[in-house]
Amino acid sequence: MAFNGAGIGQEARLFRVKFYQTPSFLFLIMGISTIIVMLVTFFIAKTFDDVTFLILSTSTVTGVVFVSGVILVRIISKIIIINAARTEFLSLVTHQLRSPLTGMKYIFELALSQNAGELTPTLKEVLRQGAESNQQMLMLVSDLLDMSKMAEGDSPYEYEKVEVKRLIKEVYEDLAPNAQEKNITVQLHIDETDQIKVDPKKISFAIQNLLDNAIKYTPEHGTVTVKARQIGKRVKISIIDTGIGVPLNEQDRLFTRFYRATNAEKTKKTGTGLGLYIVKTIIERHGGSIQFESELNKGSTFTILLPLRSKHF
Ligand code: ADP
Repeated sequence: MAFNGAGIGQEARLFRVKFYQTPSFLFLIMGISTIIVMLVTFFIAKTFDDVTFLILSTSTVTGVVFVSGVILVRIISKIIIINAARTEFLSLVTHQLRSPLTGMKYIFELALSQNAGELTPTLKEVLRQGAESNQQMLMLVSDLLDMSKMAEGDSPYEYEKVEVKRLIKEVYEDLAPNAQEKNITVQLHIDETDQIKVDPKKISFAIQNLLDNAIKYTPEHGTVTVKARQIGKRVKISIIDTGIGVPLNEQDRLFTRFYRATNAEKTKKTGTGLGLYIVKTIIERHGGSIQFESELNKGSTFTILLPLRSKHF
């Protein structure tokens, strides 16, 4: 693979990696390193005043460094290519799956509304179960798409300065109907903070996921509180609920892909276990951190710490 300036940019876009992670750039670095190693070996060997030793040592060391460099760069390139193909495949498949699943959703709705004909109680139950499985598949497809978009670098991060208060209020307004449906009181305690430089869509998505979970995993008449304040050069956002909590022995697996706690599986059948993984990835890509505390049947507190300005921008 030959190095050329335009190739690096193209490769970075194609493989969705930084320019310094592209195979062409790695080859360039490897070439430069080999030349440096060759020169260093040459000057060291020269001090021994033996021409045969000089030629042998310089060519051996250069050869070893060059061959291992080529092998290493080839392995890294392969991993990058496989990873890009996997992401591409995932987003392609999930895109293609969404339309037929949405079509099926309407068919189930139509059948269950009995507009297409009367149903026996057994048939109605069978269709209800079919609609539930279909809904679960739709959620999975939508979460997988979000994962490839938000977490795995499908869409680049676009940073701009935003008001924390506005961001949280917008998310709250979207989810207020879910809380009302369950008679859950949502309290907002948002202090004035400096603006934060983030990708607003992605941070909104993360806060939305946490607030959605807090409402989803809190029984009727519970309370969800969102707090935000500035601590030095960071903003702390906490989402506190009085919900089902997470069993202590399962807490360390919560941010793993597809993991759902046993009590959540029992109380809420629909869920994919992808949301928190995506949230964590988004927050960490902003240079922030997320942690939580939870007590079974008492509630949970998820806390995000975000730098006012990510170290990347
Ligand atoms: P999902 O909600 O689709 O299952 P998430 O990735 O958002 O997936 O959450 C993973 C798991 O973490 C949930 O299945 C649940 O067990 C637990 N969880 C997340 N938020 C809460 C919460 N606020 N209260 C209790 N459990 C929670």
